[in-house]
Amino acid sequence: MPELPEVETVKNALRPLVKSKTIRDIDIFYAPILRNKTEKAFKKILENKTIKDITRYGKYLLFNIGEYTLISHLRMEGKYYLKPLNVKKDKHDHIIFYFSDGDTLRYNDVRKFGTMDLIKTKELFLKDPLKKLGPEPFEDRCTNYYLKQKLENKKIAIKSALLDQTIICGLGNIYVNEVLFKSHIHPTTPSNELSLEELDIIIQHARETLKKAIKLGGTTIRTYHTTDGVDGKFQNELLVHGKEGDSCLVCESIIIKTKVGGRGTYLCPTCQNKKA
Ligand SMILES: [Zn+2]
Repeated sequence: MPELPEVETVKNALRPLVKSKTIRDIDIFYAPILRNKTEKAFKKILENKTIKDITRYGKYLLFNIGEYTLISHLRMEGKYYLKPLNVKKDKHDHIIFYFSDGDTLRYNDVRKFGTMDLIKTKELFLKDPLKKLGPEPFEDRCTNYYLKQKLENKKIAIKSALLDQTIICGLGNIYVNEVLFKSHIHPTTPSNELSLEELDIIIQHARETLKKAIKLGGTTIRTYHTTDGVDGKFQNELLVHGKEGDSCLVCESIIIKTKVGGRGTYLCPTCQNKKA
């Protein structure tokens, strides 16, 4: 699944390709992708509108078309391709945007789990799906005091809390595994037992890890590709994720794999020793 750095990479690749292009027509081949509008309303709102900008929040791509913003989540396998008009439709192209200049933007999704919402731009953070999201690690409001207050009554594993997008937004399974390893914190530690100092360490590592992953184009695991087919290089930087049976680079203990909240969790039993 693409995580925040992968979505940032897609956004950076797409922006120069589609910014300032005008949508002439839209074909919808698989309507369940549209969550809050009918096909007819979706087309009516978007047709003859110009894409003013593409930004990202958490794992959502935001296409600003003025009065409305198209919020796109790629989920497991969603991809965008910019192709000339005469290129044959792929069987997994579910929505095609036709631009006035003859190019087309194709939303391709083998698994069909991706979603699109059309929300009025001035209400973007007042409505689903963005209104429930917590801050990204990069935001000034994402402090150890904020996390302490959010977690003070939560006994759930810190691993699960960091994956909860309503608490902190943009960390997926791979990056939480990496961040907890770097922070020397065991993934099953009850969230309310972490000190302000430990929460600060987590935030610093989350920022550093995501920034590095963005710089390297994200982590390409399984079949995920960015628009221009460039694979992420961050997988070369992974310290624990997917490293079951390897030696820890810090202490040479063997990395183990377990499950926390149903998610594959990799850790060093020595570096991330549970507090007594
Ligand atoms: Zn270790």
